Amino acid sequence: MKISEILKNKEITISCEIFPPKLGTELDQSRQVVAEIAKLSPDFISVTYGAAGTTASFTTELAEEVENCGVASLAHVTCVSSDEETLDEYLKTLKANGIENILALRGDMPQGREPKKVYAHASDIAKAIKSKGDFCVGGACYPEGHPESATVSADIDNLKIKAESGCEFFTTQMFFDNEVMYSFLSKFQRKGINIPVIAGIMPITNARQLQRSVSLSGTSVPRSLREMVERFGDNPLAMKQAGIAFATNQIIDLIANGVNNIHIYAMNKPDIAKAIMENLSEIRK
Ligand code: FAD
Repeated sequence: MKISEILKNKEITISCEIFPPKLGTELDQSRQVVAEIAKLSPDFISVTYGAAGTTASFTTELAEEVENCGVASLAHVTCVSSDEETLDEYLKTLKANGIENILALRGDMPQGREPKKVYAHASDIAKAIKSKGDFCVGGACYPEGHPESATVSADIDNLKIKAESGCEFFTTQMFFDNEVMYSFLSKFQRKGINIPVIAGIMPITNARQLQRSVSLSGTSVPRSLREMVERFGDNPLAMKQAGIAFATNQIIDLIANGVNNIHIYAMNKPDIAKAIMENLSEIRK
């Protein structure tokens, strides 16, 4: 099913993200992750692409597995790893496997190899995908502004181009302070962009993960989260419980304020996705 339809027809949606393995020998384990997350009945499951040296075929294989579990899948694709030939091949595989949704991304510049240069911006690959088939295409957005953008406002001007190029929804980069999201949304709407924005929530369940996520994304860390990690970071079970509670509270506040589409960066941890989903069981109904 197309995600644009899901977003149109349901008041509240909760989706999850997983990443493919680096090695083919780990595919069965990843399929197990898909099956466990699918049991939670998310509105869709996205599968990342190319990051951390994974290959495109693992993305399509896992997206296919998501569909086999009866859940809509969202397969990511990046400009830096695509040219016309590889994109055509990718779209052919997706179509053959009933995968209708694609998240069009530029990707981060790869280290130690040249990026492909056919598609410069996510909007370029979004436009190409729309011209090549009947796919629902989404894009990424950044409540604190993309790190390469001078201002949030300049970044939103480029989001407008992305929407005009065929993106039908945006998923946000992780953020930990909902006020940042509300401020972003009001700027976004003032620019006249009328597509749904799905809030990306990263549950922080261990101290190392916070450092890693923040250094990769540049996301700011509010005092409440810093204190939580300071206090519980050395106790894995307490940290996990606190991280699940923090993410749950963030989601409840978002939904209470009308941000009804939530994407959980589940990091291939079905137990964490399950705990958050259970905390939202009445809210999702
Ligand atoms: P773009 O939309 O191309 O934007 C990148 C920069 O260029 C921004 O500063 C923007 O303002 C500017 N820009 C955009 N269009 C124009 C234009 N027309 N003219 C001038 N400037 C422009 N990475 C992966 O490798 N694999 C993944 O699966 C993956 N999944 C992601 C999922 C989400 C939800 C998010 C938020 C990020 C994901 N990323 C992934 C990381 C992403 O690829 C990087 O953040 C990358 O740096 C930017 O990608 P983008 O699609 O936002 O790029």
